[in-house]
Parts: sequence; C-alpha cells; structure tokens
Amino acid sequence: MDLDLLKTLVDKGLRREPPTREEALAVLASSDDDLLDVVAAAGKVRRHWFGRRVKLNYLVNLKSGLCPEDCSYCSQRLGSRAEILKYTWLKPDQASEAAAAGVAGGARRVCLVASGRGPTDRDVDRVSDTIKAIKERNEGVEVCACLGLLSAGQAERLRAAGADAYNHNLNTSEATYGDITTTHTYADRVETVRAAHAAGLSACSGLIAGMGESDADLVDVVFALRQLDPDSVPVNFLIPMEGTPLEQEWHLTPQRCLRILAMTRFVCPDAEVRIAGGREVHLRSLQPLALHLANSLFLGDYLTSEGQAGRADLEMIADAGFEVEGAGEVTLPEHRTGDIAAPAPRTDLVAVRRRGAGTDLAPNA
Ligand code: SF4
Repeated sequence: MDLDLLKTLVDKGLRREPPTREEALAVLASSDDDLLDVVAAAGKVRRHWFGRRVKLNYLVNLKSGLCPEDCSYCSQRLGSRAEILKYTWLKPDQASEAAAAGVAGGARRVCLVASGRGPTDRDVDRVSDTIKAIKERNEGVEVCACLGLLSAGQAERLRAAGADAYNHNLNTSEATYGDITTTHTYADRVETVRAAHAAGLSACSGLIAGMGESDADLVDVVFALRQLDPDSVPVNFLIPMEGTPLEQEWHLTPQRCLRILAMTRFVCPDAEVRIAGGREVHLRSLQPLALHLANSLFLGDYLTSEGQAGRADLEMIADAGFEVEGAGEVTLPEHRTGDIAAPAPRTDLVAVRRRGAGTDLAPNA
C-alpha cells in the first residue's frame, strides 16, 4: 500500500475529514504485508482523539430469544435452532444485579438489550424502571437501551427515564439489507437512529462484518453511519451460531478484522469505535492490535454467547499499554459532547452463554 495514501488518511482523520470512497476501499484491499503500517496509521488517529483510553461496556440481555423478526445473523430470530438461553423480561432488580457485576469489573456503560421488533409502551415502562434501578445503585454509570425499532414518543420517554444512549445498528449496506432481513427495512433502522438522536439520546449505531458482504458494502455502511453521525460505532464480527441461516459464514480472518476496524476509524475518526461481538472468535490472538484502532469494547459475555474472562480483557488492555477509562473521564472529544475457498466452520470457538443474567450462575465480569 502506498505510504503517501496512509499519510493522507492520517491527515484527514486528524482534521475529521472523511476519506474518499476509493481510499476507504484501498484500506480494505491492502495486503497482509502492509497490515502493521495500516494499524500504525489508524492508531495515530485513534490516539489523537482518544489517547490510550479504552472504554468498557457491559451487556445485559433483558429478554433473550423468542423474537418474531428474521435477522439471519441472529440466534434469537424466528425459527432459530440455536440452543441459546430463552427468557422473558428480567425484573429491574435482576437487571440491576447483572449490571452491577459489569460496573464492578470496570464498565462505564451498561447496555440494556431486549430481543424483539420493538418495545410496547408497557415495555418502555419496564425498561424505565430498570434504568432507574441501575442508576440508583451505580452512580455515574451510563445506560444505553437497545430495544429495536422505536415508535413515536418512546425515545423521549427513555430519555426522561434517564437513558443516556440508544443503540440500533444499521448492520450492513442498504443494497444488501433485504438479503439479511425481510421483516423490517434499512429505512426503518435509519429512522430509529434519527429518532433517538432527536430525543437527545447519544446515538450508537454500527455494523456486522462477515455476513458475505463485499468491500463496497462495508464502505457503504460505514459511510452511511458517518452521515448519521452516531457517537459510538460498534463493529461486530459475525458469530455464525449453529442453527442460524449464516452458520456456515466463516470468512473473517484476524487481519481482515483489523483492516475493517482501521477503515472504520478513518471514516469515523472521532467516534467511539467499539469492538463488539465476535472479537474473541475472529481476532483471536490479534485482539491487542485492535486496541490501536478501537477505543472501546464489551467486557464479559455477549447476548447469547460467552466472551473471554473479564480479567483477561483487563490484562490484555494493560499489557498492550492502554488504560481502562475511569468513571470521571469523558469518552468523546470535547467538540462532540454535544474467490477464496470458504474456511472451515470454527464452531469450537463459540460457547453459548449459560451464566449471568437469566441463570442462577455468577456473571462473567
Ligand atoms: S437482531 Fe433483534 S430484531 Fe433481529 S432477530 Fe435478533 S433480536 Fe430479533
């Protein structure tokens, strides 16, 4: 890869200027020989906006499985044969208990997620009670809700209940969205992100890589995200859970994951880029390099699969020379406070979550 191009990308990132589409595509197309140069360049942009801080987030799955929607990447979808935990709404004290474990492990933000197309008004009441219970117990913690498509007025009600942020991912490009999900549209998703933003919630919206998409699709979705201007951009790497339509989609390599994170950093230089699901499964032993690109990750377990031990995450962050963001620190920069053969499936790397929320066992934090 042309070193001048990397210099251009760094200069633009420091000015919050987007790369051209061709420049973003060139990052994804770069060779393994250039990988460390790409990581070093995107790392400069990351350090300029976020220093060496790593924000920790903690997922609490309020309602697991039993979803009527058909998102093909999701183990909770209609018709999923994945043997995941299935349970209905956790009570506020149960959710607060689960959240406290994450906060004790160092999480700054708790993400309350529920399966389903979107909440009823009664669900918003339940989640509002849960947000209050969590905030009472954990001073200063940020709470993000992720409840699906929002109807009129619901974002405002969540904001009034104390929610700081709302997550709704675009997941993939507009052109391929219909191949992934048929029960709702890309436009529905965009509208919910806008509604959250308009209600004064910090928007969190990201993508899932590894669903068979092209480089052009990845660039499209990341540019679409930049246009929506979310404060945080979670980058998920598909966990091809057995029993879902995408169970055979094992395409990602650790190097590809790093290039995707680098491209996301160049396009969204001052957003909180978060390494989300699939980190352990796809980045594997290269996870520490990803800290040079992303400034945020999930501690502990994911919604339906297990993450690596919380202690291992903390050790990795320290060993790589980064610091866990403390409770008093502000995540975002000041101006924002405002034809290769398919690899064999690696199902041995995926462990269905059997601990924490919804079980009698201790959480991983
Ligand atoms: S991603 Fe959400 S809406 Fe889609 S199937 Fe999973 S739980 Fe349901």
